[in-house]
Amino acid sequence: MRVEQLGDGRPRVAVVAAIHGDEPCGVRAMERLLEDPPAVDRPVKFVVANERALDRGVRYVDEDLNRAFPGDPDADTHEGRLAAELVAEIRDCTVLSLHSTRSYAEPFALVDRVGDLARSVCPFLSVSVLVETGEQSHGRLIASPDVLEVECGLQGSDRAADNGVELIRGFLRATDVVGEDPAVTPRSTTDEVVVYRLGPPVPKAAADEYEVFAANFEEVAAGEAFAAADDRPVVAEESFYPVLLSADGYEDVFGYRAERVGVLDG
Ligand SMILES: [Zn+2]
Repeated sequence: MRVEQLGDGRPRVAVVAAIHGDEPCGVRAMERLLEDPPAVDRPVKFVVANERALDRGVRYVDEDLNRAFPGDPDADTHEGRLAAELVAEIRDCTVLSLHSTRSYAEPFALVDRVGDLARSVCPFLSVSVLVETGEQSHGRLIASPDVLEVECGLQGSDRAADNGVELIRGFLRATDVVGEDPAVTPRSTTDEVVVYRLGPPVPKAAADEYEVFAANFEEVAAGEAFAAADDRPVVAEESFYPVLLSADGYEDVFGYRAERVGVLDG
């Protein structure tokens, strides 16, 4: 784990990248920002979490770090120990954690529960979707207090790194780490942020090839074939909104079912 800091004193704000080693956008965004660092009014730390997985270009070394929280300093796995180290590092901080997906090119935000954090930060982020992870938060960093995750875009893309820079700048503005930033335009009150609540995962049957026909955040109707495992269609029993749905993003699930709960209020 690598930690860098801007400003003096003990930071209460942190930006975390590389929870997953095969999602380079967060580190690229962080490094670009630190090459020409902004003047800060409050200290902030920048954490590159899973350097070992990042160096190898893999999601994780022993187990998925984002299923290993809160971790244990004596865990048998690299990620189990790293989870405990990261939790200690970000204690008492408001945290932005950067990810990328194989399923959706536009940036969106995620929180455990919609509350003050989402309401204060989202207006400074260029996102129109907020996902509440709730019961699916177990084992993830997002289950820690005051963590907002962002999906910056498609894994490995330049655009995800560009979006990452913009999202970090918005977050630093929202948390008063920086004052005015001409690069950050607060969202107008007429721009809606639609809130989805994450439900259970969509399991994948064993197969050689997977396909997904549905688009994320667009409703799948009951009875619709929204995916396939080899040539067998996967049919929706009830209508739902797909989130993080992709053919090959996860080993054992296609993604998640979600419900649309409304729009983020002021
Ligand atoms: Zn990730």
